[in-house]
Amino acid sequence: MAHATAVDYEPVIGLEVHVQLKTASKMFCGCRVQFGAPANSLTCPVCLGLPGALPMANRQAVEFGIRVGLALNCQIAHRVKFDRKNYFYPDLPKGYQISQHDEPLCFDGELQLPIPDATGAPKVCRITRAHMEEDAGKSIHMDASTLVDLNRAGTPLIEVVGGPDLRSPEEAYVYLTTLKRNLSYLGVSDLSMEKGSLRCDANISVRPRGRQQFGVRSEIKNLNSFRAVKAALEYEIKRHIRVLEAGGTLHQETRLWDEEKLETRSLRSKESATDYRFFPEPDLNLFDVPRAWVDGVRAALPEMPEKRLLRFLHDYKLARADAEYLVGDRAIADFYEAAVALLDNPRKVAAWVVVELARELNERNCDLADLKLTPATLVELIGLQDAGRLNNITAKEVFRAMVESGEGAEACARRLNKLIERDDSAVQAAIAEVLGEFKDGAVADLRAGKQAAMGFLVGQCMRKLRGKANPKDLPALIEDAIRRE
Ligand SMILES: [Zn+2]
Repeated sequence: MAHATAVDYEPVIGLEVHVQLKTASKMFCGCRVQFGAPANSLTCPVCLGLPGALPMANRQAVEFGIRVGLALNCQIAHRVKFDRKNYFYPDLPKGYQISQHDEPLCFDGELQLPIPDATGAPKVCRITRAHMEEDAGKSIHMDASTLVDLNRAGTPLIEVVGGPDLRSPEEAYVYLTTLKRNLSYLGVSDLSMEKGSLRCDANISVRPRGRQQFGVRSEIKNLNSFRAVKAALEYEIKRHIRVLEAGGTLHQETRLWDEEKLETRSLRSKESATDYRFFPEPDLNLFDVPRAWVDGVRAALPEMPEKRLLRFLHDYKLARADAEYLVGDRAIADFYEAAVALLDNPRKVAAWVVVELARELNERNCDLADLKLTPATLVELIGLQDAGRLNNITAKEVFRAMVESGEGAEACARRLNKLIERDDSAVQAAIAEVLGEFKDGAVADLRAGKQAAMGFLVGQCMRKLRGKANPKDLPALIEDAIRRE
């Protein structure tokens, strides 16, 4: 739009994140929870919604829910109450979903974001509630028909509802990455957006800056990555402002993000809560959540990333960006600490993890568990480099091979023929050859005082040695050799 916006609009964003809990069995029956099994192979009368089948709550799922709630600084309800949320959908065979309506398991929590406010304190996003529910099945749309796979039906979910506290798509992105980071410490979910074990819906409205009252919101669904969340929010903010600027009216509605066209489109006007006709689930008893249970779960919580970050900064004297990277994923932080336990050089180990290991993970778009590196083999590699048996370049080459092969560092370096032999006769022979070859060129230049020629000679020697020397040692050896001539 060519003209400037007269009103300064402020976006108001709240995110709802569904997290699949990786219990052995489903929320209300004994069927296994597993991704990618043959369609409808993991079903029973309960999760197929057959008449007369009775649900039983999965205690482990509730405990995972408590763990999530505590990690998000929530209050934990004193009892578990389930409700029926009635709606029709082909992949919801009962015609209702068992969820929690007025008594969520967890409520009144908060998530600290690594976004400093004006005073330098971290921004806090409220966690309104986190409630338990069961997942629906999956509709698979074919050309002329739709197939239904009910393996997912009944998988335990916890829905984490964030307060309307985020003010930009960037803040929404930071909220999601921080939430995922914290949940990764709990071991309760795969947290894979690709496999659908982490799903996000976004609520967005805009209002003139300074006004208290919220604008009309839309809810965006079908967001398949954190990047999509950001892009869809940016699109919706522009759309809302465009409608308001043109004097139009916004309606509360649910919109779908189209990943290809990079736009949202209206799916339906939003159901209000009463449309779902919530009522208490008559087939499940209320059950108590004794404080001893909550205390036990709290005591077993791991050290959470905010605390671990402070410890890394203090104990290992790391740069903040490096420490933030390390604690960003529990597996990486654990790997790092295991390596530091073997080699008391926290900064050197951090450099390898933050630069080289991070590059491998990034390039392969995989998790640490997919690589064959162990803390012990990394420490062995650093030892070879420190002993001068690999130089900076060959150490990295060996690293890249080890990640793939799972070999020890020395075995891998030997296989690749990169190990610098302690016997330096090969080095001396290479220097002699190079000095002979470039007698009238670079060697003469060096004798004439042109120091730049040294770099050239070192490079030639390294080439002849195929990298099996430490380039830092070479200038002194070359000078000795020239002096001896
Ligand atoms: Zn079942």
